[in-house]
Amino acid sequence: MVLDRKRVALISVHGDPAIEIGKEEAGGQNVYVRHVGEALARLGWQVDMFSRKTDPEDATIVEHSPQCRTIRLTAGPEAFIPRDELFDRLPEFVEQFQAFQVKERIEYPIVHTNYWLSSWVGMELKRQQPQIRQVHTHHSLGAVKYKAVRDRPPIADTRLETEKRCIETADCVIATSPQEEEDMRSLVTKKGNIKIIPCGTDVDRFGSISQTEARQRLGFDPDDKIAFYVGRFDRRKGIETLVRAAAECKTRATGQLKLIIGGGSRPDKADGRERRRIEGIVEELELGDIASFPGRISDADLPAYFAAADVCVLPSHYEPFGLVPLEAMACWTPVIASKVGGLQYSVVHEATGLLVPPKDAAGFAKALDRVLGDSQWRDRLGKAARSRVENEFSWTSVAGQLAELYETLL
Ligand code: UDP
Repeated sequence: MVLDRKRVALISVHGDPAIEIGKEEAGGQNVYVRHVGEALARLGWQVDMFSRKTDPEDATIVEHSPQCRTIRLTAGPEAFIPRDELFDRLPEFVEQFQAFQVKERIEYPIVHTNYWLSSWVGMELKRQQPQIRQVHTHHSLGAVKYKAVRDRPPIADTRLETEKRCIETADCVIATSPQEEEDMRSLVTKKGNIKIIPCGTDVDRFGSISQTEARQRLGFDPDDKIAFYVGRFDRRKGIETLVRAAAECKTRATGQLKLIIGGGSRPDKADGRERRRIEGIVEELELGDIASFPGRISDADLPAYFAAADVCVLPSHYEPFGLVPLEAMACWTPVIASKVGGLQYSVVHEATGLLVPPKDAAGFAKALDRVLGDSQWRDRLGKAARSRVENEFSWTSVAGQLAELYETLL
């Protein structure tokens, strides 16, 4: 076996880093793994990103660059399986991972796992190959999530137990914000090694177009006041709060308010149901003339949407980190967000945007009126937002911090 110290395996069982983002269940985790992988490769690491194959038509190996690949392992049927039903497939994923190592004559000294399902894979690999160092990023913490949802799925206890064991035994667990570290300490365990390294964003791609150009390109009126949401249609994203806030805010009376709610959905799935529910509320509040649902926004158009907006709104009930606010801020667009999770860390209240208690539609309405009613202040918030992202949240800086951590563990 060849033991190459500069190799790292990023494991993301349910979040395929090579998939089109904004489609199906793909979201922040897919983006994180892909960008961290590519940035580590640019820093000189040999990166393999492992995910579960969900479609027989998908390539087994995707080469993003000579130093960075996505490898899709077959664990269970090559079809979409909701993440809460994937636990029983994990032993097969471990077997396939090990078979791949043998076939390619590789041993990964560092395994960086993502989400609790992959943490189980990492712990199992470590049990069988004790020299492996495991780094883990949660992306979402069961202990927090289950406080915010009504129905706990049958897998909840297994998830909570796995997360606790992972925090206590991994060589290092990454908290993407001080709030996440605090949640792990107060809700899960006092044991284990935690380090804060934030998520990042592409500061070249986001921020490459001005508001005027973006509006021309997308055919938006230069005088409109645009509030923009993009992300998955999921109840925990709190889109209902934004819609109710738009109905209440004074800017609506000016006739200039436009509400754009972007993101993909599939008619017969949970995200399709949530989209229909939101569309129903839009209709009930008679917002049909100001609200639009462009669907999945492509990678090529996304920077223009963020730049065209006057404000980006993230009304989540719970958000472990949230990449969307970073993307908006990189485009000089201030953010109004719920005062929850990582949003309290990325958005600086009164400096790069505003924080409002979750589910507080009246609070969001007031915040919208403040930002949309004072364009000079809006521009100042936007400038400060851009500087914050450039200084703290570029993928290169995030990958640099991760690389330093890996080196220390080795
Ligand atoms: N996204 C996108 N197009 C869409 C919807 C979402 O590219 O139509 C991207 C968005 O830009 C962001 C990611 O999906 O990079 C969502 O990540 P976030 O952390 O905000 O939310 P999550 O999906 O992890 O809850």
